[in-house]
Amino acid sequence: MTAPDVLLQTARRGELHHTLILHGSDSRLLRATSLAIARALTCLEGTTGDGCPSCSKIDRGIHPDVTVLEVGEQRKLISVEQIRSVISEAALRPYEARRRVFIIDPADAVSAGGLNALLKTLEEPSASSMFLLLTRSPDRLLPTIRSRAQLIAIRPQVTPPGEVAAREQIPLQLARLRQSAGDLEPGEAEVLAREIVAQLASFAARRDYSALLSVAARCASLDSPVDAVSILAAILRDLAALDPEETIAPSEARTIREGLGARRLLETAEEVLKGGNRLLVNVDLRLAIEQALLTLRAR
Ligand SMILES: [Zn+2]
Repeated sequence: MTAPDVLLQTARRGELHHTLILHGSDSRLLRATSLAIARALTCLEGTTGDGCPSCSKIDRGIHPDVTVLEVGEQRKLISVEQIRSVISEAALRPYEARRRVFIIDPADAVSAGGLNALLKTLEEPSASSMFLLLTRSPDRLLPTIRSRAQLIAIRPQVTPPGEVAAREQIPLQLARLRQSAGDLEPGEAEVLAREIVAQLASFAARRDYSALLSVAARCASLDSPVDAVSILAAILRDLAALDPEETIAPSEARTIREGLGARRLLETAEEVLKGGNRLLVNVDLRLAIEQALLTLRAR
């Protein structure tokens, strides 16, 4: 089950905290998740969302117990008046559902006066109402609000690299690389990977040690040592595990696999990661990678 699934099941059982902060960079996903929680909380069939009258009212934005508070047109903030009207509603019994659900999107747009009013309600929550506060980052909310809520990170689901590769008709290795690029731009990661594969092929074909030194120097030149180490290790593993046809450079991948062997590539990936762990004690990254890559030598 993915995190939102767990969340929806918990909502369905009525076991959610009375105030949730849903945070994440994808604002549409936050809104969709909050509405899914509202459906799970109020569904007449007890599901996590279906076509029952309650769920379809939520879908159409007309459920009397589900209120979405947002920034009005030509305004920048959710006003204290908007919050006050919500608070007086929150004290009432729900019309038809077990609970009233208030979605504030985004919660960091609530005015200072609104926040003060809201805090009192969150301090003494009524059993029949629930608040969902949406925000890019919980840091944008007052600590006093955060401390009264349960924080839940909502991240877009990552499509398996195999699916991405098939859909976009790109090599599997490239799809995997894009997902493990860390702070690197995916394009930058691809260029780096092609350079590394070319150097490794040169080493595999001619035992050209300067190629390994170049790989180490290139990785050490990246701004983020963590990304350098994880990308290099991922490349070595993919060269060991993938069919050369699934890599970004099939003919070079074949040279590397035949010249060095899958097992040695995997061992080297491990050594690179170990070298990466030593970065915490200020080891020179270039030297650490050079040493790790020497695992590629025949014994
Ligand atoms: Zn339903």
